[in-house]
Amino acid sequence: MNKTQKGKGKGIPKRDDNHYTKGLPAPLVENYEWKDLANCKDMDTEIFFLPWGARTTTKKKLEDTAKAICVSCPVIQQCLEFALATKETYGVWGGTTPEERAKILEQRELEASGYEIAN
Ligand code: SF4
Repeated sequence: MNKTQKGKGKGIPKRDDNHYTKGLPAPLVENYEWKDLANCKDMDTEIFFLPWGARTTTKKKLEDTAKAICVSCPVIQQCLEFALATKETYGVWGGTTPEERAKILEQRELEASGYEIAN
């Protein structure tokens, strides 16, 4: 490696590592039509994506508002699985916060590795 190559491309994700497409279902209608049935279909997305840096109490209140909409959503499970598959790190999806989804993913990884979780 010469000096001009040093650091070249640093920080730029490889095509396969692209966060925005990795884990997304194939772009087929049947993989996304569940969104047409969502309770949030015509709602403001700001309800589900909190303002950056929201304080803890505000964050909890806003997340609870979003979760109250999700709880009766007919596609809550599809929404949750979509967010888990894409490792969505922002917003309330399928009635869960990013922190709750991280715990679900961690638990699934442990279970897949054969680790038994005591209840
Ligand atoms: S579960 Fe919540 S975020 Fe997901 S589609 Fe339904 S209302 Fe929207």
